[in-house]
Amino acid sequence: MSSNKPTLVFANSKGEIRDYEGLTMAGASGELFHCPDHAELIELPEGSELFVLPGRLPVGIEPDTGEPALLDADPYTGETDISAVAAFMAPAHTAVYTAAYQSQEKAPLLPLFAYTAVGWMDGKFWVAAFRSDQDNRQDIAGFNQNLINKRTEKKLRQHRDNRLIQHLGKCCLTYGCPAARNYFLGRWEAPLPSSPACNASCVGCISLQPSGCCPSTQDRIRFAPTAREIAEIAIPHLKNAPRPVVSFGQGCEGEPLLQASTLEKSIHMIRRQTTK
Ligand code: SF4
Ligand code: SF4
Repeated sequence: MSSNKPTLVFANSKGEIRDYEGLTMAGASGELFHCPDHAELIELPEGSELFVLPGRLPVGIEPDTGEPALLDADPYTGETDISAVAAFMAPAHTAVYTAAYQSQEKAPLLPLFAYTAVGWMDGKFWVAAFRSDQDNRQDIAGFNQNLINKRTEKKLRQHRDNRLIQHLGKCCLTYGCPAARNYFLGRWEAPLPSSPACNASCVGCISLQPSGCCPSTQDRIRFAPTAREIAEIAIPHLKNAPRPVVSFGQGCEGEPLLQASTLEKSIHMIRRQTTK
C-alpha cells in the first residue's frame, strides 16, 4: 500500500463510479466522519459488490484540514445528480466504518444490507474493514455457479416432497446464500432453517419486516419442517461431506428453540444413523 490515502469515490448521474482526488475517503461511525488509518484498510475482497446509494451525497475529508466535506456536484461536469457509493463486502469480513454520506430530503430507505466505506488508491478499491473469519468456506473463488445450478436442480428434482430442501433451493439459487450453496455442493457446513417464528423483535431483522417500510433481504421460512425433512438433509450430509457440520439458527430464520421438540426428534434420528 502506498503512503497516500484512498480518494473519495462517487456515482455520477449515469451511475458510473468515479474517483475524485480533491477529497480523501471518509468513513462514518454513528454521526461522526473519520479518515481511516492504513491499518483499517484492506483491498476490496473478491466477491464484494458496490452499491450506489440513492438520495445520499458523498462525504469526504479535506486533505489540508482533515475536516469532513460534502461533495454536492460532479467535479468533472458540474451536474448535481450524484450519489454516495458503498461496498457490500464478501462474507468473512467485518466493517470498521460505514459509508460516509449525507441524506437528502426524501432519500428512499435502503434495504437491510451492510454499507461499508470504500475509496480508491493505486488503481484499486479499498474498504475500511478486516477479515474476521479465516475459514475459506464462503469465499467466492470456491463457488462454480454452473456446478451449483446443476447440483441444486438435480437435488430439487429428487426431493420434491421435502419442503426444507425446496426452501434451501430458493436460498441457494435466489439469494446466493453461501451456506445453502455448500449444502448443494455436498461439503462443510449445511444450514437447517427450522423456525418461522421468533421471540425477538429486532428492528433490523433481515428475514421479516412486518411494517413493510424497508424490504427484508431474505424471506423467512414460512413453515416448520418435520423431523424427517430435517434428518433427510442432515444424515447424508454428515455421512458424506468433507468436514461436515449442520447448524440450526443461521442469520435469517426465526428462533430454532421455538421448535425444540421437532429438533429433538430430528437429532435422535440423526444420531441413530451417524456417529456425530
Ligand atoms: S430472526 Fe434474528 S434478526 Fe430477526 S427478529 Fe429474530 S433474532 Fe432478530
Ligand atoms: S435461511 Fe438464510 S442462512 Fe439459512 S440457508 Fe436460507 S438464506 Fe441461508
